[in-house]
Amino acid sequence: MLSPINAILGLFSRDIGVDLGTATTLLMVRHQGIVICEPSVVAIEKKSKKVLAIGTEAKRMVGRTPGNIVAIRPLKDGVISDFEITEQMLHYFIGKVHDQFALIPRPRVVIGIPSGVTEVEKRAVHDAAINAGAREAYLIEQPMAAAIGAGLPVNEPTGSMVVDIGGGTTEVAVISLGGIVVSRSLRVAGDEMDQEVIQFARQKYNLLIGERTAEEVKWEAGSAFPMNEEKRVALRGRDLVTGLPREVEVSSIELREALSGSVGMIVEAVKTTLEQTPPELVADLMAHGIALAGGGALLSGIDQRLSYETKMRVYVADDPMTCVVRGTGLVLEELGTLKKVLVSDQHKKPLKLA
Ligand code: ADP
Ligand code: MG
Repeated sequence: MLSPINAILGLFSRDIGVDLGTATTLLMVRHQGIVICEPSVVAIEKKSKKVLAIGTEAKRMVGRTPGNIVAIRPLKDGVISDFEITEQMLHYFIGKVHDQFALIPRPRVVIGIPSGVTEVEKRAVHDAAINAGAREAYLIEQPMAAAIGAGLPVNEPTGSMVVDIGGGTTEVAVISLGGIVVSRSLRVAGDEMDQEVIQFARQKYNLLIGERTAEEVKWEAGSAFPMNEEKRVALRGRDLVTGLPREVEVSSIELREALSGSVGMIVEAVKTTLEQTPPELVADLMAHGIALAGGGALLSGIDQRLSYETKMRVYVADDPMTCVVRGTGLVLEELGTLKKVLVSDQHKKPLKLA
């Protein structure tokens, strides 16, 4: 139950929901909506480890930085590779929204974290939010938040499945009665697709292309299922033989073949999860279908491909890239009743040093 003092504070504080994604971090403020959507990238000076830029500004530096500056994605693999950098990033984003010196109550913060994060890392994220000015900080696993944001009935005694295809990881989860019943986290998602486009350009056309080009081509003409009208796009890069700039035209059919490895692994992950799901819940899934979330859900035909392979109804959730952050927002609204969907408080206890 909310204490009266908390209820009054809640009326004035600008509570914050955070999606700490492998590729993108989003923040929403209660009663206000989504206020930040920036890459989860931090640019640091190699020697001094000094942070030079965070978010959009840091991403702009990727591939363009002089040797002494590196751009880091601290959550790239769905685990926290660098505590301090992650803390600084979270601090920066929360600080952008919450003015520590203004005369408003400190916010409560709900943070969606990848499901591969360890207890120690959870604690680091929790403490980073408190250090950034949060009055209370709660953690929720991203697939759970994605399911809530996608409008699935997570608290009901019925099975719901969400497949969240992000940058670094794909998370598949079956949820019932406020808990994750079966799940899988795969380190294959949008980033891997970009790498496949790069390899394809090199192997088939002797063309060296950058990560940004690969990603843009994927957006424009990548797919996971035959299209009604196949596309052709220009691929610009450097000829590996002559060393000069060159442009080739490639078809969406070739690109689909190039992406078949990662798409195939996502399909397999969904199938294995279905195999491990208790039969009663499978029956529920057959009735309600499978919801897709995350930026990877925007890959053309991924819903059709998964539907073809699983013989189930598969649909892309509304605005799939914001499902997790909208889910955290809904949890903020109902912290009283939705507490059970949150990660347990284990990470708040003092660490026992071995
Ligand atoms: P995360 O939750 O891991 O931060 P996001 O949900 O923000 O990741 O998804 C980022 C991924 O989605 C990137 O790999 C990006 O290229 C991919 N993506 C975004 N839009 C599209 C699109 N239209 N087609 C294919 N992939 C897309
Ligand atoms: Mg995500």
